[in-house]
Amino acid sequence: MNNKILEIENLTVSFDGFKALNNLNFSLDAGELRVIIGPNGAGKTTFLDIITGKVQPTEGRVLFKGRNLRRIAEHKIARLGIGRKFQTPRVYLNLTPRENLELSCNRNKNVLATLFSKTPTSEQKTVKGLLETIGLDLKADIPAQLLSHGEKQRLEIGMLVAQSPDLLLVDEPVAGLTDEETAQTGDLLLALAESHSIIVIEHDMEFVRQIARKVTVLHQGSVLCEGNIEEVQNDPRVIEVYLGQ
Ligand code: ADP
Repeated sequence: MNNKILEIENLTVSFDGFKALNNLNFSLDAGELRVIIGPNGAGKTTFLDIITGKVQPTEGRVLFKGRNLRRIAEHKIARLGIGRKFQTPRVYLNLTPRENLELSCNRNKNVLATLFSKTPTSEQKTVKGLLETIGLDLKADIPAQLLSHGEKQRLEIGMLVAQSPDLLLVDEPVAGLTDEETAQTGDLLLALAESHSIIVIEHDMEFVRQIARKVTVLHQGSVLCEGNIEEVQNDPRVIEVYLGQ
């Protein structure tokens, strides 16, 4: 039995002849948390765009739970169980954290009926648990616009989790956060990693050290090396790529 949730084989993505990804191979075990680092222009965003179906491969293929994602529309890939967190939070600022999470739980259901329902639904119980997981149970009922940047980021991660994805893609979750918020986000991702497969793209090496078991370094559209944080940081090719920036 193959325990890979994601397999990327010989993937090339060309934009007008320029190879943003170049014969890239990558795989992620089910339940694994992987951090991807790499200098600007290495292809990290394109890598996520390929997995979510925003960009189609020029060559090669992406298998999610053994299924080839070729030509499957972005929204259908999301429904297959891939959730993506972008850099800037996309929460509804006029709604409370609880309402934001309820909406996410009920993406495909009757939203108004859910908001005005008097009896607790299983979703409302899920939301209660999620509010605790993301550390917003004490701020569950204030407008999201009053939350700090870090709290909004954690709320959005909660909103993704509310949609029950198997694979979470998280793009630079701690950009602009304080040290304390960064550590909280790290703890949250580690907690989520107990029940999800997660790929995190990150620049902040202190944060990478906090969460990473295995790191993949991208460079010029290909995997430069993979290993634990010490192996990667001491790899002369990685040092050269970063010093050469
Ligand atoms: P990273 O996220 O690691 O900074 P990107 O995936 O954004 O890297 O970009 C990789 C390379 O591909 C860059 O040189 C970028 O300019 C180029 N690129 C990305 N998207 C496009 C596009 N739509 N058209 C042309 N070039 C692109």
